Amino acid sequence: MGHLPEGTKAGVRAAEAFFPKRLVCNFPDPEALATARRQLYRRPAVRRRLLPVLANLPVGFFDRLVFDRELHILASASASGPWVGTPGEIDVGAHDSYASCGPYLQDADTFALNLPLGSWLIRLGRIAIELAPPQAFAGIVIHECCHVDRGHKIDAGTGAASTQRREDDVVGLACQLGFREETAAYLDFYRETFGDAGIMGRLPADCASAGPDS
Ligand SMILES: [Zn+2]
Repeated sequence: MGHLPEGTKAGVRAAEAFFPKRLVCNFPDPEALATARRQLYRRPAVRRRLLPVLANLPVGFFDRLVFDRELHILASASASGPWVGTPGEIDVGAHDSYASCGPYLQDADTFALNLPLGSWLIRLGRIAIELAPPQAFAGIVIHECCHVDRGHKIDAGTGAASTQRREDDVVGLACQLGFREETAAYLDFYRETFGDAGIMGRLPADCASAGPDS
C-alpha cells in the first residue's frame, strides 16, 4: 500500500499507539446497531483493517492528524441523520463516512463520544465497514484523513462548486501522498456500487510526490 520509502512512514508502532484512546467501536450499543454484521464493528476487526492504512501514512502527515488535529476514529453502523430504512439496507447518505471537527450536529452518536474540545473525528459508516473491499477501504480512510488535514468540516454548508473544489483538492492530496491506487479504488467502488454517489473528487492526470515530510 502506498509507495513511500521505509523510514518516511508512520509505522506500525505509531499506528498501534493510536488505537487505545482514539478508536471507538461498537458505539453506543452493539445490539442496537441496524446491521446483522456486528462482528465487523468489533475493535479487533476494525483495528486489523486500519493498522496497515495508518502505518503507511507519511510520518509528518500522521503526526499532524494525531497531535494537531487530535484525530479520533469512530466505526458506527448507525445512520447519521434522519433516515428511514430497513435494517439490511445501506443508504449512501446515511451510512457514508465523513470528517468533522467535534461532534457532527446530525449524528447523535458523535455527541455521546465526549470528544476533547477542538479534536477531529472520522466516522466510518456501514459503506466502509461492511461493503468496501480492502483497497477501497484504505482509499476511504486516506480520503477522510486528507479532509481532516485540510480542515474541511462536513457541516461547512458549502455549495456544489466549492464542494467539488474541496473534493478535487483532497483527491489530489491523497495522490501526492502516494495513494493514487487506493483513491482510484475508492472512487470506482462508489461509482460501481451506487452509480450517482453525489459530488466525488476527480483524479488529477498526474501526481507529483510531495516528499517525505508531507
Ligand atoms: Zn470527500
